[in-house]
Amino acid sequence: MNVERPTRASSVGVRKSMQSNKGRDTKPELALRRAVHALGLRYRVSARPLPKVRRTADMVFTKAKVAVFLDGCFWHGCPEHHTKAATNADYWAEKVRRNRERDAETDRLFAEAGWTVIRVWEHQNPLESARHVADCVRSRRADQLGQRTAR
Ligand SMILES: [Zn+2]
Repeated sequence: MNVERPTRASSVGVRKSMQSNKGRDTKPELALRRAVHALGLRYRVSARPLPKVRRTADMVFTKAKVAVFLDGCFWHGCPEHHTKAATNADYWAEKVRRNRERDAETDRLFAEAGWTVIRVWEHQNPLESARHVADCVRSRRADQLGQRTAR
């Protein structure tokens, strides 16, 4: 027997992200950007770093080659918050499955081009996520400097 769980949008953020697939400047995006900015980092917003790849990252650090994607819990199938929709369950499950496939492909394409991809769930603490992003960007910059002096 197929057991269905009732739909439970466990937070306002999750419910909001169900309403718009690719809403720009959502609350979690703004919170993360503000936190990263407060750590002294500058970045491009909603940019497409690889000309041949039609994928837009939420934050792009061009020199460090770091791209940050903020994934909505519902749309990207967060293990903590993704709940099966009560109506059209198959339709939504298929949509989320395709999103996840696309995410994996994006990660692969970026990695092949020498980029580091950071994925942040919208439910994650923006300050902690921002620190993770900052650490990653700084270590990439340090690596690049190391390569330059080694040459
Ligand atoms: Zn979540």
